[in-house]
Amino acid sequence: MARKTLKLYGLQHLDILRHYRDISDRALHEFSVVGKVLPFRVNNYVLDELIDWSRPDEDPFYRLTMLDRRMLATSDFDAVERAMRNGAGATLADVAAAIRRRLNPHPANQMTTNVPLLNGSGVSGLQHKYAETCLVFPSSGQTCAAYCSFCFRWPQFVGDRSLRMATDESQRFVSYLREHKDVTDVLLTGGDPLIMRASVLRRYVEPLLGPETAHVTTIRIGTKMLGFWPYRFTTDDDADDLIRLLEEVVQSGRHLAIMMHISHPRELETPAARDAIRRLLAIGAVLRSQSPVVRGVNDDTQTWRELWTSEVRQGIFPYYMFVLRDTGPRAFFEVPLSRALDIYRGAVSQVSGLARSARGPIMSTDMGKISVDGVADFGGTRTFVLSYVQARDAEWVKRPFFARYDDTATWVDGLQPLTASDRMFLSRPEPRLARAHH
Ligand SMILES: *Cc1c(COP(=O)(O)O)cnc(C)c1O
Ligand code: SF4
Repeated sequence: MARKTLKLYGLQHLDILRHYRDISDRALHEFSVVGKVLPFRVNNYVLDELIDWSRPDEDPFYRLTMLDRRMLATSDFDAVERAMRNGAGATLADVAAAIRRRLNPHPANQMTTNVPLLNGSGVSGLQHKYAETCLVFPSSGQTCAAYCSFCFRWPQFVGDRSLRMATDESQRFVSYLREHKDVTDVLLTGGDPLIMRASVLRRYVEPLLGPETAHVTTIRIGTKMLGFWPYRFTTDDDADDLIRLLEEVVQSGRHLAIMMHISHPRELETPAARDAIRRLLAIGAVLRSQSPVVRGVNDDTQTWRELWTSEVRQGIFPYYMFVLRDTGPRAFFEVPLSRALDIYRGAVSQVSGLARSARGPIMSTDMGKISVDGVADFGGTRTFVLSYVQARDAEWVKRPFFARYDDTATWVDGLQPLTASDRMFLSRPEPRLARAHH
């Protein structure tokens, strides 16, 4: 097979858009203004094989990866533009930093909660929120082959190291996992851990395959490489090494789950993606998909119906449909909870039972993953029926609770509990610095 080389394009390469579409100098300028605040990266696969350039402004992948002036408030946009004109670098950096701070860069208190302790000090790059699952953030895996403009990890892509969660190279996470026999699932996440060379990824995976971590029976890898660079699994110069490493996980008797972020059925249709899926299935990996509902990308029933159907046909299990998190340019992309529920119900009711394995719509919050299960009428009051599918407090799982129906709410903070007993399920806990977990 002909080898393709990944070419990454950022703000300094914006002119490349002129090769693909009609675009005015003004539009490119606006793009670069927004890019002073929000991260931007695409690559040659997204440009050449995903985006349909006949109608770029309606294209889901254009919308997913490109920037738009409406992502910033007008006053913020003007402030950045002014700072750029003045040419004072420090001022521009300050203006951009101030705007970022207002875009809720730490949703769900990611930085301060769930960081576990080993011998009294925090283990960097590890998160332990649910008893059975630990998240590992490899330090070299904190970028992606392209960026989704809505991503809740966006602060770490704009170079703010203090907003970045990553392992140091000392591999203390392995010591932590050896001591915590209740952890069955390790999820390598990012960014995209598969941006790492196979030899680097090996340093994270191999230590988990030994007898001291026999209790870790599942290794999950969260990735969007299938959508953004499927050649990672097929023709990259270390693709064979990657497949071999993944196969070793399966050979060790463990469950290897590739948790694929898939936004749209088109991601599954390119020849490169199909080859990648076949290769992963052949080694015994289990493929699951998850994605948020994003306005202008996949906010309609038909898209989800096609997505889940195509996934099942190709051997991918639909897993989660998420609600967009409350961070970054969310106002540009968000979908009301009521609308997300309609999309979910519309799609799930029209597919094979095998494609109904996706749970949703789900809000991943401080407290846990809240599912919007439906709308009910209680003595004339329209009510959202909600439940936790994952919770810090395991007692909360699968206990229905209620909030007043509101067709404008886009997140849990916009919901009013129906009764006093529903209040605790919806209120934010005090941030905890570390979790006592033994
Ligand atoms: C979703 C999630 C997990 C995994 O939950 P599962 O329901 O087991 O897939 C683990 N940790 C965090 C922080 C999560 O958001
Ligand atoms: S691939 Fe995932 S981590 Fe990377 S930008 Fe998109 S949503 Fe964020």
